[in-house]
Amino acid sequence: MLSCYALQIVKRQKEARPNVSTTRAHFAKNVFFGCIDDRIVESHLKFIIKIGGAFYPAVAGGGLAFIDLSERDTSLTQVTASYQINHIDTVYVESHTDCGAYRLAGVIFASPEEELSRLYRDLDTASDLIKDALLKAGAGLGEVKIHTRVVDPDGVVVPRPSHASTAI
Ligand SMILES: [Zn+2]
Repeated sequence: MLSCYALQIVKRQKEARPNVSTTRAHFAKNVFFGCIDDRIVESHLKFIIKIGGAFYPAVAGGGLAFIDLSERDTSLTQVTASYQINHIDTVYVESHTDCGAYRLAGVIFASPEEELSRLYRDLDTASDLIKDALLKAGAGLGEVKIHTRVVDPDGVVVPRPSHASTAI
């Protein structure tokens, strides 16, 4: 219990600094996880503004970062940390065509169709891994939605090929 004198001091301190706030509350309910590629940063920022803000981790490869065993834990931790910090309810994971991280990993695509199928397949796997990690981090079933997409180097969405398998 504060004494009357102490209460007066606290009151005076508040009066002396009426507009000073020591913290600003988190507000974003999204995490947007994409590739580091410099060509798509502008599209990321526009999208994040459009959805009202996001936690914004980026690792080379986007969805590939969840598949690559050397990057997996780091990538999953960014998503679960976003959940634990501000209970995000939506996860966006984006990969893009002509990605240098796939080339660095030695992946060669025989055709644009093969590239797109692989990117979406990896995003499906990333989505499953993220779902498991979120459940382990305390999220309820269905509490967090996970969206995946592939864009071209200009940030334009390239839809999933109709013949590719879809996650159930
Ligand atoms: Zn990339």
